[in-house]
Amino acid sequence: MARALRERTVVLASGNPGKLAELAQTLSPLGITLRAQAEFGLGAVAEDGLSFVENAIIKARAAAAASGLPAIADDSGLEVDCLQGAPGIHSARYSGGDDAANNDKLLTALGAVAREQRSARYQCVLVYLRHALDPTPLICQGSWEGYILQEARGSNGFGYDPLFYVPQYACTAAELEPQVKNRISHRASASARLLEALRRQTG
Ligand code: IMP
Repeated sequence: MARALRERTVVLASGNPGKLAELAQTLSPLGITLRAQAEFGLGAVAEDGLSFVENAIIKARAAAAASGLPAIADDSGLEVDCLQGAPGIHSARYSGGDDAANNDKLLTALGAVAREQRSARYQCVLVYLRHALDPTPLICQGSWEGYILQEARGSNGFGYDPLFYVPQYACTAAELEPQVKNRISHRASASARLLEALRRQTG
């Protein structure tokens, strides 16, 4: 049975204005107003789950509790196959430093591993909670397949994009036009799935 989306205002569990603008646009066909968690006095919460799904639920639950509104949260990262999925949920803080330091650490970890063993993917999980105690969260996932290069290329994007080679476009994510990345990325797939899932709920 479809669950009614009673509240048209939803809080986004993120402090990133770019994410808010992007998701607000994706969800606009549903007439949802997205508000930032900072409006409710909520800052960063401890992401101590062991998976993207757990961390997204932790963040969404905190935002729903602070706001009294339904909440959406995302969690994302890079999974490298020959590193047993690292940096994974630790992607943002992999090296303890900035993006450049994370990329250096990744290159060092991969060393001289051959191209065909450098397969990787970005993962994005988006979670929607109707309220803080919602026992059946909506969970939508998107992924984006690629390879880790041996050196950085390109200056668009952020994070691991200069090392993330996209075979379909024969360039790195940091060499893609932002509009292209925003159409084909892990976040784009997860957002499209969330839109569909919420649309089904509203019936
Ligand atoms: P968050 O879920 O937005 O906090 O992202 C976690 C971390 O994953 C980021 O800090 C990046 O290191 C990495 N990451 C997630 N998505 C991307 C992307 O689209 N490009 C590059 N790095 C990303």
